[in-house]
Amino acid sequence: MAGKALVVAEVKGGALRQVALEAITAGRRFEPSEVIAVLLGAGGLDEPAAALGRRGADRIVIVEHESLGAYTPDAYLQALLQVVEREAPEVIVFGHTAIGRDVAPRLAARLGAGMVSDAVDVRSEGGEVRIVRPIYAGKAFEVRTFTDRPAVLSIRPNNLPLPDEAAGRTAPVERLAVDLKDLRSIVREVVKKTAQGVDLAEARVVVAGGRGTKGEEGFRLLRELADVLGGAVGASRGACDAGYADYALQIGQTGKVVTPDLYIAAGISGAIQHLAGMSGSKVIVAINKDPEAPIFQVADYGIVGDLFEVVPILIEEFKKVKV
Ligand code: FAD
Repeated sequence: MAGKALVVAEVKGGALRQVALEAITAGRRFEPSEVIAVLLGAGGLDEPAAALGRRGADRIVIVEHESLGAYTPDAYLQALLQVVEREAPEVIVFGHTAIGRDVAPRLAARLGAGMVSDAVDVRSEGGEVRIVRPIYAGKAFEVRTFTDRPAVLSIRPNNLPLPDEAAGRTAPVERLAVDLKDLRSIVREVVKKTAQGVDLAEARVVVAGGRGTKGEEGFRLLRELADVLGGAVGASRGACDAGYADYALQIGQTGKVVTPDLYIAAGISGAIQHLAGMSGSKVIVAINKDPEAPIFQVADYGIVGDLFEVVPILIEEFKKVKV
C-alpha cells in the first residue's frame, strides 16, 4: 500500500491506552508509506505523543480543543473528519473500545468507506491484507479483505502484538487546530461507577465471578485474587442481575469482550452468552462445584470445588510466587 495509515490513539486518565499501540501494529501490516497517530483531547497529550513516538509511529498529530476533553460523537467525528481531510489516509485504525465502537462506523459512513470491526488479527498474505474477526459469538472466524480505500478498521484489545519500544526514538509532533461547530451534546460531568485499578478490556488477567459467588463476600475474595495477580475483576450477567457486581463489569454478549492471557471464572456456569465475551482468552481456568458445568468445556484447567475454599488457597499460593 502506498498511502498513509492513520491510527486513532485513545488516551484514558492521561495515559495512552495499550490498544493504541496495538493499532500501530495493525496499521503497519498494511505496509503504508507512514503510520500517523492522532491524539484527541483537551490537553495533556504531550506524554502520550512521546510514548507513540517511542513505539514506532512515524508522525503524531495532536488535536486539542476544549470540547474534546470528554468523548462526544459529534465533536470527535468533526475533529476526525478534519484530520482525514488533511492527511487523506488510506486506512484508519481504531481500538474496538467504547469510543472506537461508537465513532468508527460514523466516520466510515461519512467517508463512504468500508469498515471491518472487532478484528483479532490483521495479516498480509499473497500481497493482500486479510482481517480476521470472530462471528457467531466467537464460535467461528471470518476473514475479510478491503477492496477499496479508504478503509476503516477497529481492533479488539489484547490480540495484536505491541510494536517494539525504542527508548530514544522520537517522531515529529504536529498540532492541528480544528473548528467544531453546532455541537449537539456537551458533557457536564463524568460520574465513575467503578473505581478500578486495571482496565477490564485491556487486563492481562481477569478474575470473573458468577452467581456462585453468592454476593459481596465472594467478590471480595475475587478482588483480592485479582490484586495479587495484577488483574481486573469481571462478572457474569447472573452476578450483575443478582446485584453482586456492577453492570460495568459484565462480560459477555451484552457486556464487555475480553481476551486476557488468563481468565479465571469462579462460580460461573458458562452460558453461551457469557462465553461470547471471554472464549478468546488465552488460558481459561474454571472453578465450579458442579463437574457438569458447561464452563469446563472451554476451560484449559478446571477445578471442581467450592470457590470459597479454592480461591483463598490460590491467593495464598500466588502470594508466595509473587506474580
Ligand atoms: P448461573 O448460571 O446460576 O451459574 C452459577 C454457577 O455457579 C453454577 O454453575 C454453580 O454450579 C456454580 N456455583 C454455585 N455455588 C458455587 C460455589 N460455592 N463454588 C463454585 N461454584 C459454585 N450472561 C453473561 O454472563 N453475559 C452476558 O453478556 C449475557 N448476555 C445475555 C444476553 C441475552 C439475550 C440472554 C438471554 C442472556 C444473557 N446472559 C448473559 C445470561 C446467561 O444466559 C446466563 O443466565 C448467565 O451467564 C448466568 O450467570 P452465572 O453463570 O453467574 O449463573
